[in-house]
Amino acid sequence: MVSSHSLIKRPLYRGRFAPSPSGLLHFGSLIAALASFLQAKSKQGQWLVRIEDIDPPREKLGASDAILKTLDAYGLHWDEQVLYQSKQAEKYRALLKDLNNRQLSYYCQCTRADIKKIGGIYQGHCANLQLNAEGSATRLRNQHPVLSFNDELQGKVVVKEQLAKEDFIIHRKDGLFAYQLAVVSDDIEQGITQVVRGCDLLEPTARQLTLYSVLNQPPPSYLHVPLAVTSEGFKLSKQNCAPAIDDTNPQPALIAALRFLGQNVPKDIEQGSVEEIIDWAITHWDSKSIPKTTEIVL
Ligand code: GLU
Ligand code: ZN
Repeated sequence: MVSSHSLIKRPLYRGRFAPSPSGLLHFGSLIAALASFLQAKSKQGQWLVRIEDIDPPREKLGASDAILKTLDAYGLHWDEQVLYQSKQAEKYRALLKDLNNRQLSYYCQCTRADIKKIGGIYQGHCANLQLNAEGSATRLRNQHPVLSFNDELQGKVVVKEQLAKEDFIIHRKDGLFAYQLAVVSDDIEQGITQVVRGCDLLEPTARQLTLYSVLNQPPPSYLHVPLAVTSEGFKLSKQNCAPAIDDTNPQPALIAALRFLGQNVPKDIEQGSVEEIIDWAITHWDSKSIPKTTEIVL
């Protein structure tokens, strides 16, 4: 008899929002959260939230819970349980071990200053030195450089060749797992079919695609939305202290984020409840209207 378990089918579309708890959600993160949510919900898909808390020194106390509370206040309700990267260490370690066993990685003791001296891109200095793990970073032996890929909004993205070919870090010298490794491992585990996020992560996508090749896994498709910038031209980020969005009055920021994403929000929706705005947005979501590169000045 077929067990009922095997009959449970995952929907065709699974998206996610993956904030790092290095601060509260700001307008820039709302744009990424909202775009990924609407893309999933307009396709009757699932939308997952993953807290990327693998960098304790950069974590802000209480930020994870505050981010989840904000998402709820903005009507961005997620499916399934929140995945915390801090609980995934065993998985990442197993992946590193597997790559090591397949001789697809090696230890490197180059410092940031060493690499800066040679122009900022690592050139394979430690590839054949057989260094010890102690005090070393781990690099991927990059046998699958990704020189270009297709983005659903940005079109064909061409990556600088040297960067595409770099043996990039998958485990840091300070013992922390690298973002590239963790994000690919978790997107695979969570069955993510499309990644929607900000354009600041356009370039790292090539490395993530390299990892999918190495791991023999089908990659998700990608859609990178434009970034909101400050009047000085800096992207809104936790690092440059972008103000947190207001949990007690979500409507104005929600409307502004929808307009930023090129959605034609009618005036009368502005006065609606959060649920009404979100329902309108799911029904009318048009990813083709997202501007490619226009950034608003705040
Ligand atoms: N955790 C990353 C950030 O907050 C995003 C990762 C991703 O969406 O792939 O910038
Ligand atoms: Zn090195």
